[in-house]
Amino acid sequence: MNSTIPYNPPDHYLMDDLFSDEHKVVRSAVRDWVNRSVKPTIEDYFEKAVFPIHLVKELGELGAFGPFIPMKYGGAELDYISYGLIMQELERGDSGIRSMASVQTSLVMYPIYAFGSEEQKMKYLPRLAKGEIIGCFGLTEPNHGSDPGSMKTRIKDMGDHYLLNGAKMWITNSSIADIAVVWAKDDNNIVRGMIVEKGQEGFTAPETHGKWSLRASVTGELVFDNVQVPKENVFPNIQGLKGPLMCLSSARFGIAWGVIGAAMDCYDAALRYSLERIQFNKPIAAFQLQQKKLAEALTEITKAQLLAWRLGVLCNEGKSTPAQISMAKRNNVEIAINIARDMRQVLGAMGITNDFPMMRHMMNLESVITYEGTHDVHILITGHEITGIPAYK
Ligand SMILES: Cc1cc2nc3c(=O)[nH]c(=O)nc-3n(C[C@H](O)[C@H](O)[C@H](O)COP(=O)(O)OP(=O)(O)OC[C@H]3O[C@@H](n4cnc5c(N)ncnc54)[C@H](O)[C@@H]3O)c2cc1C
Repeated sequence: MNSTIPYNPPDHYLMDDLFSDEHKVVRSAVRDWVNRSVKPTIEDYFEKAVFPIHLVKELGELGAFGPFIPMKYGGAELDYISYGLIMQELERGDSGIRSMASVQTSLVMYPIYAFGSEEQKMKYLPRLAKGEIIGCFGLTEPNHGSDPGSMKTRIKDMGDHYLLNGAKMWITNSSIADIAVVWAKDDNNIVRGMIVEKGQEGFTAPETHGKWSLRASVTGELVFDNVQVPKENVFPNIQGLKGPLMCLSSARFGIAWGVIGAAMDCYDAALRYSLERIQFNKPIAAFQLQQKKLAEALTEITKAQLLAWRLGVLCNEGKSTPAQISMAKRNNVEIAINIARDMRQVLGAMGITNDFPMMRHMMNLESVITYEGTHDVHILITGHEITGIPAYK
C-alpha cells in the first residue's frame, strides 16, 4: 500500500460544512494522535492481546475522557458532536482504544456526574479525566446479559456500610481499573449504583483470556465476596434500572459514531489498494464488481454519517430518545462490519494479513455488535417503539 498518500476521509455529502471550527479542531487533534500513537503499533498489541496501557495518560491529555463533562470536574465541556468525532477518530485506530474512552467517559464519568454526590464528583472526576485513574462498569453477570434487571448481585444494609456480594462478567478494563461503577440490588430489590475501589478486601478482578475480538482491550470479571462498601460510595441520585440504561444510551451514542471510523479506515485502505493492484493489465479498481463494493461502502458510510450527525444535534438539544440512539448504534455497527468484510475481499489474499486493518476491525466489530445491547435486542427496541409492545420479554 502506498503509505505516502495521506489519509483521505470519505466526505461525500460535505459533512464538514455541518461541523463547527471547534469540531474540526477536536477531530484533527485526535486524528493526528491516532496516526502517531495508535496506528504504528496497534497490530502488534492486537496480536499479543495486550492493551497499550501507556496510552491512557495520553488519552487524558488529549481530552478524550469525559469531553462533555463540565470543566469544573476536569472535563472539556464540549458538545455531543465533538464527543462523537473523538470516538470516530479513536475507533479508526482500534475499537479497543475507543472502548477504553467510551467506558471511562459514558459508563464511569457520566454516572458519577449525573447520579453522584458533590464529594464523589470532586473526588473521582478530575482524576478520571486526566487518565490518572481508570474506571470500569459492572452491569453484565455470568447468567444475566441482555436481561440485566434479573441481576443477582446484591448489597445488604449493615447499618454503617453495605455488604456487596455477587459477580460481574465481560467487563471492559476490569483488571486494570482503579474503580468500578457497580450495579446491584438492595434489600428492597431496587437496583443501586456504587463506586467500588480496587484493593477492597473480598474484591477481585480476574482477566478473561482467549478472545479473538477486542484483543487490544482488557476484558474480565468483577467478583465480590462480602466487600464492605462505604455508604458514601453509593450514588444518592438514582434508583432502578434507569441508571445503568442512561449510561448505556450515552455509550451507544459514542459507538454509533465510533464504528464509522472503523468503516472509514477499511474503505480508505481498500480504495488505495484497488487503485494500485494490477490484474489483467488493469488496476482492480477498474472492474465493475470492485467498484460496486467501494460504491456501496461509501453510500453506507455517508448514510451512517448523516444518522450520527442528526443524533448529535438531537443530543445537543436534549431531544434524543433511547430508541433513536439504539437505532443508530445498530445500523452503524452493522454497516461497519459489512464494510470491513467487503473491503477485506477487495484485497484478496493480502486482506487477511495484518499489513492491513480489515481483519482486526472485523474481529473487533464482532464484540461491538454484541456489547451495549446485542444487534437482535436493538431491533426489538425499535419494534417496541413502533408497536408499543416489548417483544423482548
Ligand atoms: C468485549 C466485551 C466487552 C464488554 N464490556 C462490558 C462492560 O464493560 N460492562 C458490562 O456490564 N458488560 C460488558 N459486556 C457485556 C455485553 O454487554 C453483553 O455481552 C451483552 O449485553 C449481551 O449479553 P450476553 O453476552 O449475556 O448474551 P445473552 O443475553 O445471553 O444473549 C445471547 C443471544 O440471545 C439473544 N437474545 C437475548 N435476549 C433476547 C430476546 N429477548 N429476544 C431475542 N433474542 C434475545 C441475543 O441477541 C444474543 O444473540 C461486554 C461484552 C463484550 C463481548
